[in-house]
Amino acid sequence: MNWQKVLAQGFDSAEALLDFLGLPKNLAHVDAERQFKTRVPRGFAARMQPGNPYDPLLLQVLASPQELKQAEAYVKDPLAENMKNPLPGVLHKYHGRVLITLTGVCAVNCRYCFRRHFPYEANNPGRKGWQSIFDYIQADASIAEVVLSGGDPLIMPDRLLQEFVDSLCHINHLKVLRFHTRIPIVLPERIDTSFVSLLEAIPLQKVMVLHANHAQEINEAVKQACQAMQRAGCTLLNQAVLLSQINDNADTLAALSWRLFECGVLPYYLHLLDKVAGSVHFDLPEDRACALHKQLQATLPGYLVPRLVREVPGEASKVAVIL
Ligand SMILES: *Cc1c(COP(=O)(O)O)cnc(C)c1O
Ligand code: SF4
Repeated sequence: MNWQKVLAQGFDSAEALLDFLGLPKNLAHVDAERQFKTRVPRGFAARMQPGNPYDPLLLQVLASPQELKQAEAYVKDPLAENMKNPLPGVLHKYHGRVLITLTGVCAVNCRYCFRRHFPYEANNPGRKGWQSIFDYIQADASIAEVVLSGGDPLIMPDRLLQEFVDSLCHINHLKVLRFHTRIPIVLPERIDTSFVSLLEAIPLQKVMVLHANHAQEINEAVKQACQAMQRAGCTLLNQAVLLSQINDNADTLAALSWRLFECGVLPYYLHLLDKVAGSVHFDLPEDRACALHKQLQATLPGYLVPRLVREVPGEASKVAVIL
């Protein structure tokens, strides 16, 4: 079965997911789901513990009534991204790298996601917008790196990715192509031989920043996907989000680092949650986050300690969180 078929067979309602896990259907919250729809690949759901309403993978994707709580400072565009948006699909906030969102679609819908309110309809460049993106990068020799983000860039078919990457490769000052993707974690079937060949042939430095929040997300299929991408010449990194009730515990975070390392992936960032409307119940006080980070530093080798960061509008980079 090809990956598109596997994706199409995923859960698209909380009720069906709960049923699969042997949990009561009334845990699903219809109004929250209407705001941001449920989307969970079956293989990811299969890594959840049946009968456990507190499963750390389930809590990331289950529409909860708490999402409807209004909290001050939790807004729709927490990063003020509308400000640094020179073209549809282009975010140019930091020196030397531009972030491109070619699609707003993901293989999974994470409830804490800061992009749940992002105006993708207005901001999707579409195939017709590509040339302006290439022109923009071509005209700015300070840009050494293109970051493909989203949505999830790997949701795009190989044919389109190939076309986009081919044009990028004609820009002489580009050195690095980076993907930010959760798909190798939630839909490892996507990393098939055709995609691996596509990666292998890209004549730039290649970086894959994965997005796993918990060791339980990483099964054997994910490990094999990572190893295939590494053989194709990619540097593999991970960014996680610190999430209340899911990974806000030093042992859980240490286990994630070790599991990533077994797969050839180094922890890169541990993000404090962006204060997006509907996600207040996932947030953690800053002093608690710093205490956890200190515990990690005290127990892990330095290369397995992710940098604790947050995004601050107007800053020239992600900002380290220290007390
Ligand atoms: C996070 C981010 C990047 C990448 O930042 P690094 O610190 O290099 O990982 C680039 N552009 C935008 C707009 C970002 O939000
Ligand atoms: S952008 Fe990342 S965190 Fe947000 S829904 Fe997609 S996969 Fe989840």
